[in-house]
Amino acid sequence: MEKVKERCKLKHGLIVLSDGSKGGLAMLWKEGITVDMKTYSQDHIDAWVEGGWDGDTRVQELINGATAEWRSEIIDTLFLPHEADIIKSIPISFRLPPDKLIWSETRNGLFTVRSAHKLAVTRAVSPNKGTSSDDSDTRCFWRRIWSITVPHKVRHFVWRACCNALPTKNNLRHRKIIQEELCDECKGAPETVGHVLWGCPKAKEAWECSKLVFSGTVDANASFKDVMWKLMMVTDVGEDHVAQAATTAWALWHNRNEVRHGGVRKSGQQVFRWASDYLREYRAAVVHDIPAATMPPQGAAEGKAFEVGLPFAKEVGVRDVILEGDSMIVYNPVCNHSLAPSSIVAVVQGIQDISGDFWNVECSHIKRQGNLPAHLLAKYASSITDYVAWIEEDPAISCKLLSMM
Ligand SMILES: [Zn+2]
Repeated sequence: MEKVKERCKLKHGLIVLSDGSKGGLAMLWKEGITVDMKTYSQDHIDAWVEGGWDGDTRVQELINGATAEWRSEIIDTLFLPHEADIIKSIPISFRLPPDKLIWSETRNGLFTVRSAHKLAVTRAVSPNKGTSSDDSDTRCFWRRIWSITVPHKVRHFVWRACCNALPTKNNLRHRKIIQEELCDECKGAPETVGHVLWGCPKAKEAWECSKLVFSGTVDANASFKDVMWKLMMVTDVGEDHVAQAATTAWALWHNRNEVRHGGVRKSGQQVFRWASDYLREYRAAVVHDIPAATMPPQGAAEGKAFEVGLPFAKEVGVRDVILEGDSMIVYNPVCNHSLAPSSIVAVVQGIQDISGDFWNVECSHIKRQGNLPAHLLAKYASSITDYVAWIEEDPAISCKLLSMM
């Protein structure tokens, strides 16, 4: 046992010897952990353990070094469900680069005085200041967001909307992807998350149908987080109404996207009705709690596909490569047009490193609508348990699926 302790680098321990072939237990721990032993016998150890996950804990301790995967069992016990979801959806580079500190207030993770100033100002003028801005209220708010009884994709949408993380025209303009930011619906204001889901006349019409009563008024320029805060933390309209509000907001965004892709423009009233029907069907269908699926951060899947695809190409002897994808978030940093968001920076670095092993690596951005074969393949891939590769031939499955369209 002493050898085991040495090999595992666990200095301290309690070892209960076996009685012949019966029982026998060991509990080992490393320096810096306080263990208050209560009782023990040959088949149980009851102890109070403190420490281990403190300020010095590194991200690498949450990653399985052998498989380059997140250690879900640890993450799930240490973080709130929505925090765990976010962590587990961050792609891990197979190069397993060492931990480094990043600043969460800038996209590229680098500290700037400007961003720190902005953060200080935002905190100082927070609309919740003085009433309910302390940490426990904020945690309660996010906990409630993640427990709204709606499909996971709606919950996830509401969370992104509250974090201002939807690709609205205003957000895209800030990232210098587009130049014009007016709302396509009313042409009367920049298309922010708050505008699409609350301030826009179409949103107003939908919310009026919902007959939700807010205590006090919510400004037309309010952020969506302000709206949800007012609804859940100030007015406390009850579970059903919160679910209705979440689904209505999601339906507004859904229709906004449909219209952008040539779909039918619905009125605010039609959006509300559609959302109500959707929620009713969901409630009728849900008998058991369905395990939640996780949406990776934007660009995560595409980035990881490139990082895994390149070593494969190298292995089969390909020397000239064209990487084709529909994610600008991956395309721009890989081509050095912009810095990568910190969530995929390690993966992008991995792509660039391995690119040096080829004669030529070209990156080509293609619009989502033009990337149908790849989407069909991705869908098909979810049914593959083993491994499939096509070399010098078209995947028969995508030809078949395309001919059916
Ligand atoms: Zn509008």
